Amino acid sequence: NTSRLVGKTVLITGASSGIGAATAILFAKGGSNLILLARRADALKAVADAATEAHKASGVQGGGKIATVQLDVSDRAQVAGLWEKVPKDLRDVDVLVNNAGFVHGVERVGEINASDIESMFATNVFGLIAMTQLIVKDMKARNTGHIINIGSVAGREPYVGGSIYCATKHAVRAFTGSLMRELVDTQIRVSEIQPGMVETEFSVVRFRGDKSAADKVYEGITPLTGEDIAEEIVWVASRPPHVNLAEVFVLPTNQA
Ligand code: NDP
Repeated sequence: NTSRLVGKTVLITGASSGIGAATAILFAKGGSNLILLARRADALKAVADAATEAHKASGVQGGGKIATVQLDVSDRAQVAGLWEKVPKDLRDVDVLVNNAGFVHGVERVGEINASDIESMFATNVFGLIAMTQLIVKDMKARNTGHIINIGSVAGREPYVGGSIYCATKHAVRAFTGSLMRELVDTQIRVSEIQPGMVETEFSVVRFRGDKSAADKVYEGITPLTGEDIAEEIVWVASRPPHVNLAEVFVLPTNQA
């Protein structure tokens, strides 16, 4: 039952592709309003158009308002200036999906350059924290809301070649758990979705554009899709207010 999401405002970071884009479209289908954030304005616009179409086609009454904001979550000043770019009637965020994230490559510790290390932490960890700080203040004032962070299997199980990415996703899991406990006396829910392998742009970026190396990882495995994870996110967000799915760990059936 996703009727609880009709007319709710959902802010999604990293909404220009992959999991974020699929999530935007699914929330739109269910009658939510959207604030969509990412750095690529054109890709974001295409997702917003697809979400508008999905909302229209669903026939659901309510929702359907969409704002797009070109924004780099790793830039604190841009995050602080967010409300200047969002229409007034969309400023009460009911659901924050902290999804923006990336991985630079699969590399041994000695080979990773400093700027890649810093930019992974800047987006996956500091960006997620900055967005949370901005939104949680308002959620606390209204004593309602739901923060859904996108972690990873890499936040549970480290792998060779993923030291920095795994460290960022372990940090996300620790931050999420602390925040959930901190807000235990409020009506604000905090959840983390931890996907295994999902085939998105990320899969190829991880191998610095080498598609055949990226495909090799999926040998014998049918990877998850952005839509699979979007379904989990919408499911988590649409539970009754007293139910918090704190952690959802989602693997492809053949991923160990
Ligand atoms: P994509 O590369 O398709 O999507 C990443 C999104 O994040 C894009 O919309 C990108 O948009 C945005 N983004 C990246 N950096 C920034 C930034 N600094 N500021 C704002 N937006 C940013 O990959 P996925 O959909 O796969 O990844 C989404 C999340 O899922 C990430 O957190 C990833 O770590 C996580 N995840 C992915 C898995 C996978 O196998 N694919 C597995 C487990 C977790 P733009 O470039 O326009 O800014």
